[in-house]
Amino acid sequence: MEEERRVVKAVRKFLDEKEYDAIIVSSWQNVYYCSSFTGYGDALLLITKDKKFIITDSRYYVQAGNQSGDYELVKSGAWNLKTMADLVMQEGIKKVGYEDLAVLHTMYVNYFEKLGVELFGVGNLFLDSRIIKTPEEIAKVEAACDLASAALERTFKYIKTGITEIELAARLEYEMRTAGADKPSFDTIIASGVRGSMPHGTASGKVIGKGDGITIDFGAFYNGMCSDMTRTVFAGEPSAEMRKIYEVVKEAQQTAIDGYKPGMKGKDLDKLARDVIAGYGYGEYFGHSLGHGVGIDVHEGVSVSPGSELVLEKGMIFSVEPGIYVPGLGGVRIEDLVTIGDNGKLRMITKAPVRDLLIF
Ligand code: ZN
Ligand code: ZN
Repeated sequence: MEEERRVVKAVRKFLDEKEYDAIIVSSWQNVYYCSSFTGYGDALLLITKDKKFIITDSRYYVQAGNQSGDYELVKSGAWNLKTMADLVMQEGIKKVGYEDLAVLHTMYVNYFEKLGVELFGVGNLFLDSRIIKTPEEIAKVEAACDLASAALERTFKYIKTGITEIELAARLEYEMRTAGADKPSFDTIIASGVRGSMPHGTASGKVIGKGDGITIDFGAFYNGMCSDMTRTVFAGEPSAEMRKIYEVVKEAQQTAIDGYKPGMKGKDLDKLARDVIAGYGYGEYFGHSLGHGVGIDVHEGVSVSPGSELVLEKGMIFSVEPGIYVPGLGGVRIEDLVTIGDNGKLRMITKAPVRDLLIF
């Protein structure tokens, strides 16, 4: 028999430790994580000490068989209360863990509380597992990054003054979709000119002007994993100050990437980049964290921030994304994903495009 999934082993260890009988997995992210099922939102899982069930309806019987063949298929609407109540009765289940970080209060009241079992929140069980990726998961993120990078390079030829941020975002998303992405991993951020001083300015109707910096922060959701990258490029020659800011951000990112050492905490890596920016007098203009974990969700697990005590370990994937945002002037951010390589150094997962200043 095929080896049991790593996460299912972790779930069963948790059941043993806590003396629960089963866990109901309900968020689309963790349903996918535990079963590979991609009918996002349309299945529930029940994992007991020795059985695994996937509950989904007729739209997904074939798909569930293909993706989650190691689960017993229960043919029913995912959220049919009677189905789950019958199942827990049939299996003699009394103590059930549920995703307290994901379940809405209304679901808790109208579904979970009515199952007639004792309920326990599982807290960080899944996030603690998802934070360390398997080589296969790292390869999937890498594939999503490759797809997104290539889409951006194909989009470069459309960058010119006179088009709107939304037109540029649409082209970039088109290029990702036609290359096979399921969807963007989040709403594409395109912030040009003075809008660049808003770190998370989603694409607007603003027309890109001559000399504008264009911060493009985007990702592909592909094979169940997200990519996330940012490039700031220029439509025509940038001002001297924007050019300087660009070089400072690039130096800050490279300093963090080169300076990583095994055993470092999130706050240590953050400081490497933050000190460079502060050294050039722009410290007050770098307000966000240096990085975050990426996986099934575009923000998950790892925090690379001034307060993060988390030790950065092998198997983690996180972004390194310093930025400088000056109100009234503009902003620059450069973001790439990294993991910790076999040699104990950070390995770039985003391979392209280059991080040199680009002018179109
Ligand atoms: Zn990003
Ligand atoms: Zn990011």
